[in-house]
Amino acid sequence: SFSVPMLDKVVIPDVNNPVRLNFNENALGMSPSAKQAAINAVPKANRYAKAEMPLLNKRLAKHHNVDDAQILLTAGSSEGIRSAIAAFVKPNTQLVIPELTYSDGEYFAKIFNLNITKVPSLPDWQIDIKGLQKAVEDYKGFSIVYLVNPNNPTSTIFATHQIEPWIKSKPKNTIFIVDEAYAEFVNDPAFKSVDKLIIQGCDNIILLKTFSKIHAMAGLRVGYAVSSIENIKNMAQYVAGEKLNYCGVCAALTSMDDQSFLTYSKKAVDVSRQIMEKTLSDLGLHYLKSETNFMFHKSPIDLKDYRELMKNNFILIGRDFEPATNWCRISLGSPGEMLYVANIMNELKEKGKI
Ligand code: PLP
Repeated sequence: SFSVPMLDKVVIPDVNNPVRLNFNENALGMSPSAKQAAINAVPKANRYAKAEMPLLNKRLAKHHNVDDAQILLTAGSSEGIRSAIAAFVKPNTQLVIPELTYSDGEYFAKIFNLNITKVPSLPDWQIDIKGLQKAVEDYKGFSIVYLVNPNNPTSTIFATHQIEPWIKSKPKNTIFIVDEAYAEFVNDPAFKSVDKLIIQGCDNIILLKTFSKIHAMAGLRVGYAVSSIENIKNMAQYVAGEKLNYCGVCAALTSMDDQSFLTYSKKAVDVSRQIMEKTLSDLGLHYLKSETNFMFHKSPIDLKDYRELMKNNFILIGRDFEPATNWCRISLGSPGEMLYVANIMNELKEKGKI
């Protein structure tokens, strides 16, 4: 079992070991049992994961209470996004996205020459579901709606009741790709996974999941999609095949059953978030209500200068996220790292630099 890292152990970074808060990674490192499974797999990694991939597939089907054939294993959720879009490219297709969301949807859609329709956000970057719905209704061709919930870089959720009626109404010529990469960090009970709708038979949803975040396995590249059997068959044509990272598959299988690590992973993020919320409040910086392992706040100075100032103190923070000029995304590191970050930010404030 695990305890949340001691709060009195401030992590002191240096130029070679900066605090990396720029990629929404999990600073804890993966579960020790999953790590051991990956290590044990190395000597066998001259082979393909022929036996292990079906086991992971089965385990995930059980987890979501769906048929084995409703799961597609992918190399991270990135391959899920790419294959989901590829599977639904038809002539005259648009990708509908909020103007501020995870960039991979647009990135892959552009490769497939889709029209991109960006829907303006509501105040504080809240997603305008009605606006998305109108963008679909106004379009003559096929629509792929890419929804990230909780959203990145904003860290906020939209409530299930906001999209359920729309998805259940089965708008014609529309598929919903719902990316729930950060769902395990959510505290707000208004959020529910769309996997319930898939179980109920909604065949217009592709749910994308990843082992990169709560499971802390970003570098091992394991993710998966959940959808109807037919959609999964369609998507399967656009992934690299039944060939995933051997060590990643073994680690994922073990991590699935390490509930104590998953609980610890979430708790550590909750503690880190509290430290960051207090720091931002003390500094008078407006931030959005985070349901993820990162936070989105108004930059106290020009974002480029803020990033530089933090980097000089060995803290790496998020890039520009257009069109949110001068908003900053800071990933939540370990509590010890966030204590260091809090100290530096308070110091910079005292010196009048931020
Ligand atoms: N989806 C979202 C919303 C993300 O933020 C990320 C990574 O940050 C990904 C997907 C892709 O991650 P991976 O391919 O490691 O699963």
